Parts: sequence; C-alpha cells; structure tokens
Amino acid sequence: MIAQMSRKSDIYHRPGCPYISRIHESHIEAFDMDDHKITHFQPCKYCCNMKTMYRKIQPNLPEIFGIFNYQTEYNGQYIKVHTDSYDWRILLKASEQNMRLLREIRENNGDDLKLIKCDVMKKEKNLQTVIKYIVNQENSVLIQNPSAIRLCRSKNLQLDIVWKLHMMSQLYIF
Ligand SMILES: [Zn+2]
Repeated sequence: MIAQMSRKSDIYHRPGCPYISRIHESHIEAFDMDDHKITHFQPCKYCCNMKTMYRKIQPNLPEIFGIFNYQTEYNGQYIKVHTDSYDWRILLKASEQNMRLLREIRENNGDDLKLIKCDVMKKEKNLQTVIKYIVNQENSVLIQNPSAIRLCRSKNLQLDIVWKLHMMSQLYIF
C-alpha cells in the first residue's frame, strides 16, 4: 500500500484522502507504507484512523461478505466483526498503521473471554485485506461443515461444486 505526502510536511496520507488534493502536485511524494521510514512521519488524523477507514469500507461490505451473515461495528477502539462462526476484533496501531486481528473465544459458558492473535495479519495495513481474511475463514468453516459434506456424499458431488453452487445461491445447505 502506498502513502502520499508533501515534501514540505511530515504528515502522510492514505490513497484517496481529500487532503492530498491540497498538496501542490510538484511537492507530492509517495512511499510504500511498509517502508520503515513511516515511523519518522505522522499519520494524517483524517485518513489514517479506523473511523474513516470503517466508514469508507462499509458500502462494500455486502459484496465482500457475499453469502455470509455478518455484523460489523466500530466502537471507538476497534472494529467488531461478528459472523456465523466467530467474533473478531480489528485494531489499528496508529504509529505504524499496522492492523491486528484478534479472534474472541469464550470459555466456561461464555464467562471467560480469550483473545487469539492472528499472526498472518501482523503487518497488514489494508482493512479490506483483513476483512477478506475473515471471509476466507468463514469459507473454510463451510467446507468443513458436516452438513455440506453429508450433502456431497448423498448426491455424489464434489465439495468444491457444492461450494460454487452455494456461492451462486442455487443451493441452501443451512
Ligand atoms: Zn489524509
């Protein structure tokens, strides 16, 4: 992911930030957000925070989640994502713009809450990538779903074909 900034400032922006248009074209500089020099600059308070990123991605969520049920909410600290299978938290480390993905696990009849880190997301800077990862997890749960497997055996179908039909909403296995 690319960040843009003015050579005359130490504040950088994410792509699409309206404040980029205020920078004179000849002063615009771009660098990769994975570049370590990001730690020497300040993130823009408008475009580099979860609230703005969440608002921006919200209209695309039905398309990203497709057939899966989901609820999302930004509570001021992190984005809560609830799906049929799991509860997730997406956090942002502002200074490095890295996102962390945590999965909630409840034990003792829901009394104890444990948070599991998803290390694959350690250096992710793009919210859409994190949410797509969640959808992939949901996808793999469906593939492991006993009722999906039973249906394949009874109809003599391949599991990936059942999955494709399910994606096209021609077949409801739940
Ligand atoms: Zn900005």
